[in-house]
Amino acid sequence: MNCTKPEFAWLNGQILPWDECLIHARSQAAFWGANVFEGIRAYWNEKHQQLYIYRLADHLKRLRESMKCIDMPATFDDSVITKACLSVLKKNAFREDVHLVIVAGFGFGENYDSLGYTTDTLMHITALPMPRSPRYDSGAQAAITTWRRISDESMPPRIKTGANYHNSRLAQHEVVRNGFDTAIFLNQRGTISEAPGSCVAMVSRGQIISPPGSSGVLEGITLDSIKKITQRKLSIEFIQREIDRTEMYLADEVFLCGTLAEIQPIISLRSKKNSQRYSWTYYTGYTEAI
Ligand code: PMP
Repeated sequence: MNCTKPEFAWLNGQILPWDECLIHARSQAAFWGANVFEGIRAYWNEKHQQLYIYRLADHLKRLRESMKCIDMPATFDDSVITKACLSVLKKNAFREDVHLVIVAGFGFGENYDSLGYTTDTLMHITALPMPRSPRYDSGAQAAITTWRRISDESMPPRIKTGANYHNSRLAQHEVVRNGFDTAIFLNQRGTISEAPGSCVAMVSRGQIISPPGSSGVLEGITLDSIKKITQRKLSIEFIQREIDRTEMYLADEVFLCGTLAEIQPIISLRSKKNSQRYSWTYYTGYTEAI
């Protein structure tokens, strides 16, 4: 993707030039990853010549929940954040699909104590053009990573914090180095959890099955949309329960779902490429049915 730099961003209540949307290097948000965030898609509608933000209110609700979990005071209320998102989109005059990111972070603790509690918070909102991934059509080759997903006892995946993505990076880099497109994590109990930046689900015996929040996952808004669509429009059974690794190997179809990924078919699921020792090579179906 060749992405041109947007002109404007929003920082702490103000629209400013993109290059001036800066936070201090020693803020807790930048230094320790002490932030929570949401990534949201806005879709350009050619017919109506408008951008439509997808489930903004639900993303703001999850942002509040993440803030609550890390004891972060709310500096801006939802109506201010909503207006700020709209102004970022309007000022940049995007005429294409866009990925909006809202970050709420901690500033400085007393005496610059990086771990000290502080009510000093910051917020920034940026947006970048974000076309659909080619893997939406081509599908992705997945591997189970050797890294385990973080857990609610230590780094709760339910909290959407930048710091959690260190675990995601380790996994993604490992499998990409080994020739795959995406990682799938097992959780601390050894059952399926999620991908580095999306939820995972499978189709098996006519049901759509995805791991629950207690499997070490971020509870996905896209997954919730799939749940609603399948129940209301397709009358396919949607269930959330723990999934064994081998169940996923034997599934009829596997797919990723998330705001950035949208819905991506997993076309193969393996442990290691070109390996005789690891014979887990399962080609899954294509997810056209979804
Ligand atoms: N898990 C992780 C780790 C993610 O980063 C995301 C993307 N936000 C998801 C799941 C899917 O969540 P959503 O559908 O709300 O984007």
